[in-house]
Amino acid sequence: MLTPSEQERYDRQIMIGEIGQEGQGKLKRSRVVIAGAGGLGSPIAIYLAAAGIGMIRLIDHDQVALSNLNRQILHWEEDIGQRKVDSAKTKLRKLNSWIEVETIAETITEDNVLKLMDGCDVIVDALDNLPTRYTLNRCAMEKNIPFFHGAVTGFEGRAMTIIPGKTTCLRCMYRGPVPQKKFPVIGVTPAVIGVIQATEVIKYLIGIGKLLTDRLLIFDGLEMSFNEFKVSRNPDCDHCGFLSSAEGRLG
Ligand SMILES: [Zn+2]
Repeated sequence: MLTPSEQERYDRQIMIGEIGQEGQGKLKRSRVVIAGAGGLGSPIAIYLAAAGIGMIRLIDHDQVALSNLNRQILHWEEDIGQRKVDSAKTKLRKLNSWIEVETIAETITEDNVLKLMDGCDVIVDALDNLPTRYTLNRCAMEKNIPFFHGAVTGFEGRAMTIIPGKTTCLRCMYRGPVPQKKFPVIGVTPAVIGVIQATEVIKYLIGIGKLLTDRLLIFDGLEMSFNEFKVSRNPDCDHCGFLSSAEGRLG
């Protein structure tokens, strides 16, 4: 049930026919993991907190550095040297003190990933490297938790929503390891992609709209174009191949 204050706070989105009181209640009861509190994690966390997601768990092992500030809008000059999860939590609490924000300052590894994702309804990919994305993707498939992929470089970004056992997973599309290296990026790119991911999360949790599944969305900020590429499941995928389509759940 929503309190009178919550009714007022979320009035403009409750007015949306597809959301209503019921949808807002679903958001309030939802638990979302955001893996990464940087360029993508900032807008994702801000918009999900503002929308009234009941619990947000932020995971990031890093500390705020000067060179983060061109894009990681949850972190400000005064936060340099602080743990990113602490800096992020401070801002999110100021934005919406009615929701729960959990913070974990750990590096996501094969050993701890299952535990870190425990008890969540969705996992949002706000990472900066493919090897850890693979770790997260595999975990999402094993635990049957929807996974919201986003990635950026320069003026270009991509996004896709993955429902385990139902739709194409990250590993179905990409093969082989990619070395981790510093990549260029301007802050508006993760802003665009992060907000697309947050939109998908809200739609999934409420159960409305058409999800960005089996479609890889490519944003090109220089051309100002959005293009979609159809992708399909690889039955031999070593991450999701074991899931028959009957086992998956569709939001
Ligand atoms: Zn797959």
